[in-house]
Amino acid sequence: MNGENKIMNYILYSEAEHNVLPLCSLCHNGCVFCSHKNIGRSDYLYGFYDYKRETDEIIEHIDFLDPSKKVFIGESATKIFEGEPFLFKGLMEVLKAVRKRVKKSAISITTSGGFITDEFFDAAASLGPVEMNFSLNSFDEKIRDKIVLDKKTQRVFANFERLCAMGDYLKLSVSLMAINEKTTPVESLLEDIRKLRLYSKVSVIKVFLPRFAENQFLNFFTDYGAFRDYCEKVKSSFANINGGGGAPVILEPLEPDCGGEIIVHSVMAGSKAAEVFIKPGDRIKEVNGAAPVSKTHAYKLITSSKKRVLVTVEDSAGGPPKNIVFSEYNAERDGACGIVFTADMPAQTIEKLKHAGEVIAENGKRGIIVTTPLSLGYIRGVLERFEIPALEAAAFKNCRFGGNIDCVGLLTLNDIKLNIGLDAFESLRKDKTAALVLSSLMFDHLGYDLNGENLSEFISKTEYSVITV
Ligand code: SF4
Repeated sequence: MNGENKIMNYILYSEAEHNVLPLCSLCHNGCVFCSHKNIGRSDYLYGFYDYKRETDEIIEHIDFLDPSKKVFIGESATKIFEGEPFLFKGLMEVLKAVRKRVKKSAISITTSGGFITDEFFDAAASLGPVEMNFSLNSFDEKIRDKIVLDKKTQRVFANFERLCAMGDYLKLSVSLMAINEKTTPVESLLEDIRKLRLYSKVSVIKVFLPRFAENQFLNFFTDYGAFRDYCEKVKSSFANINGGGGAPVILEPLEPDCGGEIIVHSVMAGSKAAEVFIKPGDRIKEVNGAAPVSKTHAYKLITSSKKRVLVTVEDSAGGPPKNIVFSEYNAERDGACGIVFTADMPAQTIEKLKHAGEVIAENGKRGIIVTTPLSLGYIRGVLERFEIPALEAAAFKNCRFGGNIDCVGLLTLNDIKLNIGLDAFESLRKDKTAALVLSSLMFDHLGYDLNGENLSEFISKTEYSVITV
């Protein structure tokens, strides 16, 4: 496949499989924490960061989208880099054409906020329902000026206010960056959240904890101890942040909790769940009569309901579980009825993992499941809870990006080879029949990792039996 065909393959996949409509890779490149700008021309990923599309061609591709589902703009579903949608000149034409074909579902737009045009504000009501994911980064003018060098802070804040004044046809979620103690002290994050919660339009506030590749990490932290101290300080200061109402605050990335209970993280103000007084800390025991195996599974069970959802909830204060019915349910409009869960393992992955454990045990083998330091405790908990003794969890370091990049989907096959070579895995190396369980998140739909190495080729050469889940 040549470069152009390769990009088109990923574009078609994004459109047909994820309802994501890629527009362009243009961005202001001003965020000091941005990882994309450090990808050099010789890097395999560079080709995914440099593509152009014509407006007419994008409009033709709207036919590949599923009109019954939400359409995403400005979000990446594959390796293709999505830039700032409002820098794409044909955006309004595209949005109008999407709305013509997609009659009822929301159009979700992710933006850094500084380039939103008057034309968009004028047309927003006719484009609704629209969901804006606004990367505000900071709601403090001085701090934002330091972390996003686009000279657009005042315009960004003014655009935020304009969006907040819009009608019900527009929903708004906001994200903030936690960088380090000097740049974004915990007090400033808490103050941003206090100010943002004054706007009833803001449905969710995401706060991203720092993650930097090797070549950036030391610009922000003297060492890993300083990084961990900062994260701990943010986490402990945020411990009760959702207890008193207001827009839910979600801190990411966090290790999923290992307990196995389906605990409500937070509840969106004004939602169906808020109306029946579901609150953070409550436990979801059943959805439509089925017991969820994870929070992600609970979310899936709710959002795949038709017209009516029956949720069995145990109050965090105690007492017998209550059955709550959400009638006139519409998945597109209501999502999880305003219940916010933190992400963990989908039910399908748990099933695959259990099956892998059974096969390995039946063959009298043993194996390791590769994870990262962040999720080691969680994966150990999953193996214990679902009784998968043939597998042991192993935390592999990300050598591809280095720094504190700590996500299993960003590991590569080369990382697997390098980590297995370490002393800690000597016994695994000696046991040539051992199984290696890898996350399918490491590979794209064609089986390539972030270095362009193919899984099938790796399997054909390695002496381990490889299973993906
Ligand atoms: S908006 Fe995103 S892609 Fe653009 S500079 Fe900021 S982090 Fe990088």
